[in-house]
Amino acid sequence: MAVPLTTLLVALLGACIGSFTNVVAWRWPRQESVVRPGSHCPRCGTPLAWFENLPLLSWLGLRGRCRHCHQPIALRYPLVELLCAGLWVAVLAAQPATMGPAPAPVPLLLAGWLLLSWLLPLVLIDLDSLWLPEPLCRIGLLLGLAMTALLGFLQDAATGRQLLLSHLIAAGLGLIVFEGLSALAERLLGRPALGLGDAKLAALMGAWLGPLGLLMAVAVAVCSGALVGGIGRISGRLQRHQPFAFGPFLALGTAAVWLLGVPFWLNLSGLAPLG
Ligand SMILES: [Zn+2]
Repeated sequence: MAVPLTTLLVALLGACIGSFTNVVAWRWPRQESVVRPGSHCPRCGTPLAWFENLPLLSWLGLRGRCRHCHQPIALRYPLVELLCAGLWVAVLAAQPATMGPAPAPVPLLLAGWLLLSWLLPLVLIDLDSLWLPEPLCRIGLLLGLAMTALLGFLQDAATGRQLLLSHLIAAGLGLIVFEGLSALAERLLGRPALGLGDAKLAALMGAWLGPLGLLMAVAVAVCSGALVGGIGRISGRLQRHQPFAFGPFLALGTAAVWLLGVPFWLNLSGLAPLG
């Protein structure tokens, strides 16, 4: 089957963004600039030539080793690039349905690419250090409201106002409910159970997905988190009371709602009849 040129281009762009994501996820927690200096080997510090810096291809071409110090390059780099390429292609077929009845196709595509690309470094940083950087959450939230307003007002003024208001409420609810749950859990368990970063990420999700989308995304996050946590406990990889990052599950829920649409998850949960 021939892959259409558009799909190939989108995959390529996605892989490049994935490559940049790797840089952000490495440098942000270390408080380094994400643009300067240019890419260098994290082990020996040698600056990379352009052909050592191509998404996926360089890793394959170099067989996963630095050309200078011959130390292995983590498999995570090409995997993130591959994942981002896949997400970008998936956005082409996405049915978000959280942006009003008839959103303009091109801005909707841009919104999807922006949302999923924004979540990816948050996921990686949370996995690495159990931390969701506040500025990334805050700017992501504002971008969500801006895209909601753009997509809403492109339809008509009434839709724009209604969408923006409902997404604002969802963002506020996400923050308040998660902070409330976190405080409650801490009282009941006597130790922090949910990170405060999760509340900020929930607010970001509300800004992009609206109230119903946020609810569905959190449901997906809780179910997948419980599943993975359970498997981790049974297999012995996760100790009792050992904290694990919840941000990746929230991001998974967000992607699931954006890519498959709210109706899909409503049907699956039995809250709405099929049809
Ligand atoms: Zn090196």
